Amino acid sequence: MKNFLIIKKSLFIFIFSLWITIPSIAQTDIDSTKILKYKNISQQIVTSALNERLGYKMLRSLCRIGPRLSGSKNSLIAINWAYNKMQEMGFDSVWKQPVKVPHWERGDVEEAVLNDSAKVHFKKLSILSLGGSVGTTEEGITAKVIEVKTFDELEKRRDEARGKIVFFSRPLDQATVNTFTSYGNAVDQRVYGANEGAKYGAVGMLVRSITTQYDNVPHTGVMIYADSLPKIPAAALGYTDADFLSSALKEDPNLTVSLKLNCKTLPDVQSYNVIGEIKGSEFPDEIILMGGHIDSWDVGEGAHDDGAGCTQAMEVVDLFKRLNITPKRTIRVVLFINEENGGRGGKTYASFADSSNQIHIAAIESDRGAFTPRGFTINSDSTALLEKLESWLPYLQTANIDWIRNGGSGSDISKLKKAKLLFGYIPDCQRYFDFHHSAKDIFNVINPRELELGTSAMTILTYLLSEEGI
Ligand SMILES: [Zn+2]
Repeated sequence: MKNFLIIKKSLFIFIFSLWITIPSIAQTDIDSTKILKYKNISQQIVTSALNERLGYKMLRSLCRIGPRLSGSKNSLIAINWAYNKMQEMGFDSVWKQPVKVPHWERGDVEEAVLNDSAKVHFKKLSILSLGGSVGTTEEGITAKVIEVKTFDELEKRRDEARGKIVFFSRPLDQATVNTFTSYGNAVDQRVYGANEGAKYGAVGMLVRSITTQYDNVPHTGVMIYADSLPKIPAAALGYTDADFLSSALKEDPNLTVSLKLNCKTLPDVQSYNVIGEIKGSEFPDEIILMGGHIDSWDVGEGAHDDGAGCTQAMEVVDLFKRLNITPKRTIRVVLFINEENGGRGGKTYASFADSSNQIHIAAIESDRGAFTPRGFTINSDSTALLEKLESWLPYLQTANIDWIRNGGSGSDISKLKKAKLLFGYIPDCQRYFDFHHSAKDIFNVINPRELELGTSAMTILTYLLSEEGI
């Protein structure tokens, strides 16, 4: 009797628990099937990227063209290369979007020498004109040098600047772990230093290269002139030559430097963004944009900056194709022109996108080099959204992504006003500024595993966005 009661009670509990768990069993089945599918696809993406290295091979062929500064012949060759490549890869549509870009040329004269004086000996200095700089006259300029660390210091010593070359020597702060932060804290000298010097009557400007590496390879980059001030020639000095000049000035504050540059700005020229896409099967008007910039500086090969971002974006689409994944939403690759010295490609695309009926549900930019993946930043601080995206980390971790957090996106996609969500792809940042904007940014310094892991991370994120939306 007692046993019978126990059996009856157990049976009741069993039937009751079955009744309350049936719907959740069904839901769990759906969830676990989906989890398994997402895990499998993430793994297939990583395996295929690391084994086949298509992006790495494409980057080699892009880098063979040479540097690709906006307005240059090489930049047009690279644009056509990308256009043809996307067609070969079987994108559903590929087109070139016209953009008028600035045309600055370095020229073939680029010399800075420290002249003999009573206390210092003649020395040739390693320099690169800054992008956008005016040249000197044919004879060049010879002047005394005033060394300062900040614009404030220059203002305090304004009376000493007249007729001199102003030398900004504040190094990138090596103690800051995030090198993009230390770069951001030092780059004002390069971008606005010539204006600050011109305000107080300086005749030229030299800046210590903004780099993490201790060598003598100069790093160029954009500079901007104010219309209201005289335009003075400006160049970046190799890091160790900046140290040398600094100590020479301590020996002899009256030493002179001669500077000769024949760089010049020519009229704007016609160029293009390259755009290619594969159509979504369920929501073709919902776009997931993947971007990098096709232009580079005119030294090196623009391998990390930003050939890597371009070929990663192109390979994302190829991974969908070679793994036979049909995206639910449209995946569009945009290779922007003129990120480095004007941002006009980004502006042109943004005005096209913001006036279109299609919705950019997400845009992802890769412009921080081909290094080991770390995370993604998003331009939103919504907790609900962050929680949703963080629930994807188990898949993204397959490609070494550890976090998603609020932060910036990228200079080209940040102009998209109507995009629902912007992502920045964030690889490890410790070595990027060793190469950035210098002759060292070449294909040989790219690690294929790190590049392809980045591509995998971007592909997994794109896949999940395409399946789940925002
Ligand atoms: Zn870049």
